[in-house]
Amino acid sequence: MGKSSKDKRDLYYRKAKEQGYRARSAFKLLQLNEEFHFLDDPNLKRVVDLCAAPGSWSQVLSRKLFDKDDYTDRQIVAVDLQAMMPIDHVTTLQADITHPRTLHQILELFGNHRADFVCSDGAPDVTGLHDLDEYVQQQLIMSALQLTVCILKRGGTFVAKIFRGRDIDLIYAQLGYLFDQVTCAKPRSSRGSSLEAFVVCQGYNPPEGWQPSLDTNSSVVEFFQDCPVGSNENRTIAPFMACGSLESFDSDATYHVEPSATSLDPVQGPTNPPYKRALELKRSGRLTRAV
Ligand code: SAM
Repeated sequence: MGKSSKDKRDLYYRKAKEQGYRARSAFKLLQLNEEFHFLDDPNLKRVVDLCAAPGSWSQVLSRKLFDKDDYTDRQIVAVDLQAMMPIDHVTTLQADITHPRTLHQILELFGNHRADFVCSDGAPDVTGLHDLDEYVQQQLIMSALQLTVCILKRGGTFVAKIFRGRDIDLIYAQLGYLFDQVTCAKPRSSRGSSLEAFVVCQGYNPPEGWQPSLDTNSSVVEFFQDCPVGSNENRTIAPFMACGSLESFDSDATYHVEPSATSLDPVQGPTNPPYKRALELKRSGRLTRAV
């Protein structure tokens, strides 16, 4: 689909480019914040953006936390498997959030201080095999949670993308053991037809004395063994909240942009797209077609 027709079909895609965001997902975080105001806390100092590429959430964090330039005690660390182009006030780490080394790298950047806020918009590559995709997504959420409990300060906030699949009530229950308030939120910029939603977990409140530590040799069950994060019998439903004002665009609707409106270039092209090698081969005349 051409750029200009996508501009018409998806107004958030166009608005993101108009406002200098690298991806339309920026509006998901902005709309979540409109409801929960987690980024408006003046005491927010250390923030972690997990699975951050291409970086639109980090851009939102940077604009919110550094609305004045003299905040020398604020820090944002963004982590992704993919390389990211630099963003003002953000330290980027190309790393795997499922690896314990990543936790230590972030802590080092924070001078061993804990974070006030952690978010994760992680999504694994989709295979099309529904059960497998759901399983891998849940593993990614668990990895984000494990890293978060090792780095978040008591009272802190965790926001993560989830897919409302079969076992989501189990995840709500587990989060409910660790946070005072867990809400399932759906911003208007997230397509209604998608199972995507976000858990907004406020008031991190781990059991007294629990000292989680990440180790490549221990399973998820071993990680949580001293913390009763629930079992298969304990499933809960989190309160549901739709976010974004009624005036904001509906992501499932098609809008008509002015016919004179020109299509806009993406704010940031992909750093290492899978088609890069094919383009190199084509340019050097070495791309052959299978017969
Ligand atoms: N929030 C981002 C933004 O606003 O630009 C978009 C994130 S994108 C939907 C999901 C990201 O998750 C991808 O960039 C992918 O590389 C990353 N990801 C998936 N598995 C990961 C892992 N194990 N460690 C780090 N990043 C991972």
